[in-house]
Amino acid sequence: MIITMNSNATKEDIENVESIIEDFGYTVHPIHGTNLTVLAAVGDERGKAGLYERLSSQKMVDKVEYILPPFKLVCREMRKGMTRPDTLIDVEFEWKEGKRKVTIGGSAFVMMAGPCSVETRDQIFECARIAQENGASFLRGGAFKPRTSPYSFQGLEEEGLKLLAEARHEYGLAVVTELMDAHHLEVVDRYADVIQIGARNMQNFMLLKSLGSTTKPVLLKRGMSSTIEEWLMSAEYIASVGNSNVILCERGIRTFEPKYRNTLDLNAVPTLQKMTHLPIIVDPSHGTGRADLVLSMSLASAASGCNGLILEIHPNPSQAWSDGAQSLDEQSFQDLMKRLTPVVEAIGKTMVADVATSSV
Ligand code: PEP
Ligand code: MN
Repeated sequence: MIITMNSNATKEDIENVESIIEDFGYTVHPIHGTNLTVLAAVGDERGKAGLYERLSSQKMVDKVEYILPPFKLVCREMRKGMTRPDTLIDVEFEWKEGKRKVTIGGSAFVMMAGPCSVETRDQIFECARIAQENGASFLRGGAFKPRTSPYSFQGLEEEGLKLLAEARHEYGLAVVTELMDAHHLEVVDRYADVIQIGARNMQNFMLLKSLGSTTKPVLLKRGMSSTIEEWLMSAEYIASVGNSNVILCERGIRTFEPKYRNTLDLNAVPTLQKMTHLPIIVDPSHGTGRADLVLSMSLASAASGCNGLILEIHPNPSQAWSDGAQSLDEQSFQDLMKRLTPVVEAIGKTMVADVATSSV
């Protein structure tokens, strides 16, 4: 249920309504806008009739509405009438030149770039340099890798996280890295600025629930055979445990077409924008599996209206320890950034300024 408070409601009036909701056994998620406060009452509805009538009769309640989609907290309706209808996620971190803040969502377009896996200190520093010099604001890189074969490189684990943190310090890029197991949450949280949940874990509900104990934003990748509704239900799991800073990442789905690794589903971008207030990032690297397709699909992704891209880059893709076939080298990444900027501007978004101009 969405309860819109009267614009004159005081803090006490709001607390009063919150306690009525809690007495019925629901959880309250308040959203304090600049001109009004909206309360979302969510929870198991079994055996709890009467709340609607009780709330509707409160003097300081303007209106009470049922939330129809099953993903209550992340649905677009949740922000109806608010002055800021889209979720904006501020990522703040420190590097050698001070503090930096990068915002994801709204009219900002962010670039996340880096290798599939952190391999060596030289490799991650070189990737960070390429990313930074060409206008990315996030460094990606896996330290815990979900590999199809148990014999493939599994990641450097904490050592890899430390290298990412060193590269952040040197180059002023926020770190995005994958969490595969709730047991690693504490260590990943210590080094990451944004925690990635990979496609294979999109429906690992215990892992999703563990994210309630971090305040770090979560990049939730779409499961390789997941519907949009299933994906939003996974985002709802994370929001329901108190972490509403979720970024959705379209990374391609499995189809019958073997010419590429996945089929990048760009229909998802405008579809999601109608359904949710969360920001959307596209991953054309995993979405195609082919470096030669990444440029075209990056331009198409930007044109579809997403809030940014996550791309795999490598100083020497043929030598990469994972996903070399879809990784861009320095020259290709530079060319891509030049071609991408006018498309981003054409759809009314602004490429997030590079590190030299956006430190605070
Ligand atoms: C990755 O980002 O390297 C990765 C493993 O992605 P996905 O979970 O989308 O396959
Ligand atoms: Mn990869």
